[in-house]
Amino acid sequence: MAELLNCPRCNKIFVKSFRDVCQDCQKQEDQDYQTVYQYVRKKENRMASIIEVEAATGVDQQFIYKFIKQGRISLQSFPNLAYPCDACGTMIREGRICGSCKGNITSGLDRLEAEKKFEARKRQEENSRITTYHSLKNNRGK
Ligand SMILES: [Zn+2]
Ligand SMILES: [Zn+2]
Repeated sequence: MAELLNCPRCNKIFVKSFRDVCQDCQKQEDQDYQTVYQYVRKKENRMASIIEVEAATGVDQQFIYKFIKQGRISLQSFPNLAYPCDACGTMIREGRICGSCKGNITSGLDRLEAEKKFEARKRQEENSRITTYHSLKNNRGK
């Protein structure tokens, strides 16, 4: 069955496909990509930083990061381009998270366990807050 999504760029509802934005925005994104690519492929722009690329092309950094993450722009050719770590925002050039964030995940399982416990505690706290709130309201209603 077709899944409907709100486009993260324009908020229009569209049918989910392998793309994560609607068709109009997809076109815009492809155009943006061409603009960025035409700029960085020039020899004199090879050393440009993300700020310079953004300023020169008018394409928002977050979309440039997206092109890099999608592998449409290969960092091998552009020594000064990078993108933020998914976890902490430090600029990185490979993978999805930086070295220190990787280090923080001592073992994937430990981390999952810790997250689960944290979530459970949070839920418990929320539940007790809701219960308190309701009993307060009921008392006042009487
Ligand atoms: Zn859209
Ligand atoms: Zn990080």
